[in-house]
Amino acid sequence: MRQSLVVGNWKMNGSRDTAERLVADIVAGAKSLDKTEIGVCVPFVYIPQVAQQLQSESLLLGSQNVADQVSGAFTGETSAAMLKDFSCALALVGHSERRALYGESDSLVAARYAQALAGGLKPVLCIGETLEEREQGKTFDVVAAQLTAVLDTAGVASLADAVIAYEPVWAIGTGKTASPEQAQEVHAFIRQSIAKLDQAIADKVQILYGGSVKADNAETLFAMADIDGGLIGGASLDADSFLAICTAANNS
Ligand code: PEP
Repeated sequence: MRQSLVVGNWKMNGSRDTAERLVADIVAGAKSLDKTEIGVCVPFVYIPQVAQQLQSESLLLGSQNVADQVSGAFTGETSAAMLKDFSCALALVGHSERRALYGESDSLVAARYAQALAGGLKPVLCIGETLEEREQGKTFDVVAAQLTAVLDTAGVASLADAVIAYEPVWAIGTGKTASPEQAQEVHAFIRQSIAKLDQAIADKVQILYGGSVKADNAETLFAMADIDGGLIGGASLDADSFLAICTAANNS
């Protein structure tokens, strides 16, 4: 039985004040949720203050990206060791906004994933197809290629210390959610692809769904056999909404 996990992705939102209040409210509301893991991936600049706030809390702290290199002349990048220094446990890699808006290739994503692992962070590897790719019947090919690029670099065993987030690009921030059946179909495909390489890892790896998850659709999504929780964007900026989603995962 896999434990459920809900991770908030704040993207480029918030201020010192709103970050502090949001974390405090999530911590307070999550106290009764002992069957699900919960994490928040906050903007880099707020990582130190959130780390301080979470000192003795079980909420997982995460970043929204991580450098593909260990250290050195890589202006604008933040290494896994730096994030670990501030108690980060998770790092998003390959988010579709990084791929589409900042040109991050499969190979760069694979290098970031490998560095996260080497630095002791758990990468949350985001994969998913665009609307055009779905309409052309390419969903499985796209998802398989994104996954293979990472597994060719890091090996299937790396998934013992990683999380996968299936995020159809057409559902991110659009209010359009994949139906539970559509999401389950891709989650099952991802797990079966991993099982061909290593059954035990496939059984164990958490595969999250992301794409306009809200309080009112979380329960049916999380009820699906291969959906182990969610990566939540917009709804993670409101403590009540986020906690309602966490509660759905806790009860799944
Ligand atoms: C995301 O950014 O990973 C995401 C799933 O966003 P939203 O929930 O807003 O669609």
